Formats: sequence, C-alpha cells, structure tokens
Amino acid sequence: MSIPMVDLKGQYNSIKEEICQGLLDVLESSQFILGPQGRALEREIAAYCGVRHAFGVASGTDALHLALLAAGIGAGDEVITTAFTFIATAEAIAYVGAKPVFVDIDPATFNIDVSKIEDALTPRTRAILPVHLFGQPADLESLARLCDKHNLKMIEDCAQSFGAAYGERMTGSWGDLGCFSFFPSKNLGCYGDGGMIVTDDDQLAENIQMLRNHGSRERYYHAVVGYNSRLDDMQATILRTKMKYIDTYNRLRRENAGHYSSRLDGSGVTVPFVSGDGTHVFHQYTIRVKDREKIQKALTAQGIASAIYYPVPLHQQEVFAADCAGVSLPVTEQVAKEVLSLPMYPELKEEQIDTICRTLLAAL
Ligand SMILES: *Cc1c(COP(=O)(O)O)cnc(C)c1O
Repeated sequence: MSIPMVDLKGQYNSIKEEICQGLLDVLESSQFILGPQGRALEREIAAYCGVRHAFGVASGTDALHLALLAAGIGAGDEVITTAFTFIATAEAIAYVGAKPVFVDIDPATFNIDVSKIEDALTPRTRAILPVHLFGQPADLESLARLCDKHNLKMIEDCAQSFGAAYGERMTGSWGDLGCFSFFPSKNLGCYGDGGMIVTDDDQLAENIQMLRNHGSRERYYHAVVGYNSRLDDMQATILRTKMKYIDTYNRLRRENAGHYSSRLDGSGVTVPFVSGDGTHVFHQYTIRVKDREKIQKALTAQGIASAIYYPVPLHQQEVFAADCAGVSLPVTEQVAKEVLSLPMYPELKEEQIDTICRTLLAAL
C-alpha cells in the first residue's frame, strides 16, 4: 500500500455531493466572474480572519504581487523576507521592481529570525514579508512592533497557514495585508488556481479591488493600470464547501502531527517545534535528519512518499544569485540540507503514520 504526500481524491470523495451540487448551481446561475459565490466567500473569509475586507484573486502569487503594489512598494525599494520559502514569495517582490533582502531563519520554527531583521534595514527598506512556513505563524507580535517602530508595511505570506492564529488573531490579520493561496494541495485548496488578499485598511482594500480588475472602480472607467486577477465562482463554491470543514481538517492535521512526533521524538530526528504563541496548522510535517538521502530511499522502497521543501534557498537560486553574491545565511543553508517532509493530510490514518515511522526508524 502506498502513502502519498497528500490525498486530494480522498478528501474529494468525502464531500463529493456538496461540491458537485455547488458547481451545478454555479453552472445554472451562469455567473462565473465576480459573482455571488465569490462575494459570499470573500465575506466569509474576511469574517473568519477578523478583518473588514477580502478579495479573491487568481493565485497566491498574484495575491502577493497585488498586495505589494497596493502598498505602494516599487522600484528601488527593499523588502525584508526569508530565503527558506517557495520562490513566489520573492518573485512577487521582484515583479514590482523591488529587491528582496533575505534574512536568516530561526532553526526551531524555520520562520524569519526577527532578531536579525534590524541589521538588514536600510533607508530603502519599505516592508517586511514574513512567511508562516509549513503552517506555523511567524513571530507576529515582534514583527508588528518592529514595523511600527521603523514605519514599515507588513505583508503576510499566509499561503501555508489558512486557519492558523497567533495569539488571539488569525494569520493574515496582523499585517497591513495578508495573502492566501488556494492551490489544490494547500490546506485550504480549490480545484485550480486561486488566492485571496485580506486587509482591515479601507484604502488598501480599494487599491486591491481596482488592481485585480483592470484598474477600474466602475465598469469601463479605468483609473490605473490593473490586472485580470480574479477568483472565479466555480472555485469560490468549492472553497465555500471546504470552509465548513477547514477547522476540522486543521485539527486532524495537528492530531496527525502529534502521532508522528510521539513516535519519532528522541529517535535521532528533530521533530517540528511547536511555538506556544500560535496554532500550527501543519500544512507540512517537516523533520530534520542528518542522513536524509538514506531515509528517503528507505521510505520510497516501501511506497511512502516524502519531499524536500525546499532544497535550494532563494539566495542560492540561479535567478537571485547575482543579486545575492556574498549573502550568507548559515541557518537557512544548514536547514535546507536536513529537512524532510512526510505525508500529511487530514485523512491520513494513525496506522499509516505507524507504518511510516516504523520504516523511518528502521532506516535510521
Ligand atoms: C504556494 C505558495 C505561494 C504561491 O501560491 P500559488 O497559489 O501557487 O501562486 C506563495 N508562497 C508560499 C509560501 C507558498 O507555499
């Protein structure tokens, strides 16, 4: 029996009737773009995140891109972020003509090390873009304080943290803008590309609303150069169905993480550290191991999937190498050599986790 990284089919089967009914309703309504499903989802997600505004966009990458534009970040500006993330985080910064400035990570949480940010500030620094990697919130309270102190914008990359809170507030609501991805394998995923931007700021909300829809407030009147970046109603109805279960899905992920850690802790692998300041939604369950290749081979031999998120930190990627000559991020570089993500999804069974851990422990 093989165990995949995620089981989208299993989740689909469990909610198939509701999903299909929702899709049929959209087809019958023939309202596909900026229609009632999209608006309803935006209201629901704004309420869920505890902010006043939410706007569906075409992807998580677009969410970051439009958020940076809305915040007025542009050519010559610098944006502080992490190199231990998916490429889209830094691509979005490059799209607006700004420069990503990479700061090292905390080895326990894999998130940006806030204590190292002040050394990276320059007169050109305009924003901090933290990523809540693998579903665990970055240190948002310290980040918010730092942004206040230095008059910086905060744009949160919440692509992996839907439903995660820090303190009493949801990720996405701490920054000026929060950016979500609904890529199918994310912990809240649709059946195509999709994204969402949340904000509590009326002016930023107006900017986003225009930017995602050809720069127009009113149809056929265009104030700025905007984009075609919207979330369609077919995806919105799927997401509305999944929103009913998202807290359950995240709880099951946390329980599965607990099953893993109770079996693996103390065995020579480093299990994920869970900070007490927030809820971890375990988009990924990621361990650190010295002999990663050997363990991956043993898992593969038993039909067990595993993955390396991320093998090459962004400052070492070809695309940014020229800009990052001389940049050294020792923690990021070490962590990238040791991380291994194991299968993680709400439908994963405790027996499967048993099998995975037995195979892994035997290989150690
Ligand atoms: C998935 C992801 C994105 C991009 O989202 P898309 O919807 O695929 O464009 C951005 N940042 C992080 C951290 C991600 O994991």
